[in-house]
Amino acid sequence: MKAFQFGSPKSLEQVTAYLAGADGDVRLMGGGTDLLGEIKEGTIQPDVVVDLKAVPGLAFIRRDADGLAIGACTAVADLAADPDVARDYRGLHEAAAVVASPQLRNMGTVGGNLCQRPRCWYFRDAATVCNKKGGSQCFAEQGRNKYHAVFGGGLCWSVYPSDLAPALIALESKVVVASPQGERTIPLAEFYAPPIVNVRKENILSRQDVVKEIRVPAPKKGDRGAYVKFMERGAWDFAVVSAAVKLTLAGNSISDVRIVCGGVAPVPWRLKAAEDALRGRTVSESAAAQAAARAAGDARPLAENGYKVDIFKAVVARAVLAAAKG
Ligand SMILES: Cc1cc2nc3c(=O)[nH]c(=O)nc-3n(C[C@H](O)[C@H](O)[C@H](O)COP(=O)(O)OP(=O)(O)OC[C@H]3O[C@@H](n4cnc5c(N)ncnc54)[C@H](O)[C@@H]3O)c2cc1C
Repeated sequence: MKAFQFGSPKSLEQVTAYLAGADGDVRLMGGGTDLLGEIKEGTIQPDVVVDLKAVPGLAFIRRDADGLAIGACTAVADLAADPDVARDYRGLHEAAAVVASPQLRNMGTVGGNLCQRPRCWYFRDAATVCNKKGGSQCFAEQGRNKYHAVFGGGLCWSVYPSDLAPALIALESKVVVASPQGERTIPLAEFYAPPIVNVRKENILSRQDVVKEIRVPAPKKGDRGAYVKFMERGAWDFAVVSAAVKLTLAGNSISDVRIVCGGVAPVPWRLKAAEDALRGRTVSESAAAQAAARAAGDARPLAENGYKVDIFKAVVARAVLAAAKG
């Protein structure tokens, strides 16, 4: 492992000043549960690692009339344990509660969860230079692709592994980004960028940007949510397929709905066709199954991952019904 400098700034201003002034490859660290793995695997060789957890005031969960504000360094475990989140944002609570293991939820931060890198075994292999690392090929496309994307592939067939991202996008959350130039607020849905935009990274952050906080709008009357995650193992595993649903019920009819999946595409994957199929319909098993089947029509599985399409249909339909049940 290459030696690197370790920066412990004491304010966000110091972090952004660090990013503006530093030479070489500078990486931000929340809990380090992903970043340190990348360094140890040799996927990245930073010159400087900046410890965000040393910065006071970045770990908080606050409620006000506008909704919820979550600091980037809030532990995933604290989000999962928050009683207001469990009551008002069920899908987010369910997503946080199934991230990794208790140890990783204690160390891992919300900001780090949203900025984590994909788990594709070719990308994580230091000796394999795929498109994502500046090469000219996605090795998964013709190689071993059991866990890879069934939507949005092409230049890269990795899947986005975060459990929190689909749940927060379904809730129409925004992300506050700090940089040496100041702060800006971006819808989380626009924070992720597909490989066609930039195959080297999954989000639109520049090297000088820091995720500062996430804002989740206050729930409206009739809003309900759920998060369903299918894993190969019973626990401590990434999603093979996950689905976050937020829907608004007027009586037994769905007046609005957002569905976002994890584990199926290089970025969190919104199911607009399924949403259109559900809007205005009465909640039922057949409506949920038809909507899921409509979304699955766009799937383009590879040689080894066709099984994911059936799981996708079941997970999406279950998440819709779980959300409607409240
Ligand atoms: C065995 C294992 C199982 C896992 N299972 C799951 C799972 O089931 N579901 C899931 O969602 N995740 C899972 N993870 C992934 C991940 O480690 C955790 O989700 C965790 O929340 C990441 O947070 P962190 O603070 O440790 O990130 P870090 O490792 O500190 O950072 C991750 C990335 O985000 C960047 N970053 C961190 N904070 C910021 C910020 N504020 N602004 C900008 N960039 C930032 C870092 O530079 C780095 O690139 C798993 C990890 C492991 C090792």
